[in-house]
Parts: sequence; C-alpha cells; structure tokens
Amino acid sequence: MALLINDNCTSCDACVPACPNEAISIGDPIYVINALKCTECVGAEDEPQCKLVCPADCIVQNPDFVESHDELMAKYESLHG
Ligand code: SF4
Ligand code: SF4
Repeated sequence: MALLINDNCTSCDACVPACPNEAISIGDPIYVINALKCTECVGAEDEPQCKLVCPADCIVQNPDFVESHDELMAKYESLHG
C-alpha cells in the first residue's frame, strides 16, 4: 500500500531526502507522494522513512493503492532495476 500525505503537512521538506524512491515532491499547497513510486520503503528500509522524519504525523495509508509485500517489492525492483 502506498502512503499519502494529508492536509496537516506543513511543507517542511524533511521527507523528501528521506525517500529511497524519490517518490515525494513539492505540491501546492502540500507535499505529495507519487503512489506509483512509493513502496512503503519495502526493498530499501525496514519501515517507511518519511513517517519517521515527519514532524506533523501527516503521512498515512493510501486506500486507493492496496498492495501486498510482494507487489511492493516488485515495484521497488522495477524502479531500481
Ligand atoms: S514510505 Fe518510503 S517509499 Fe513511500 S514515500 Fe515514504 S519514504 Fe518514500
Ligand atoms: S515531512 Fe511531513 S510535514 Fe514535512 S513536508 Fe513531508 S509530509 Fe509535509
């Protein structure tokens, strides 16, 4: 399942360098996660790095992108292949 940034985002920029997939970008007015690139950090880290660094606790599950661990790993490999 990809993650999603909600309206509590303060546009602090902390999450952008933390993402191993370059899935996060500046949006208007809040930052956005490209669900096609977010693997919940599967393939790179033990847990979502953006959630770890976000001071606003505004990164949540994206209900529109329900994916298994294997699917997330395949997504990671296709991004970094
Ligand atoms: S969970 Fe990982 S891959 Fe997804 S946006 Fe956050 S840092 Fe990037
Ligand atoms: S770390 Fe959190 S508050 Fe900061 S830009 Fe990313 S989502 Fe927004």
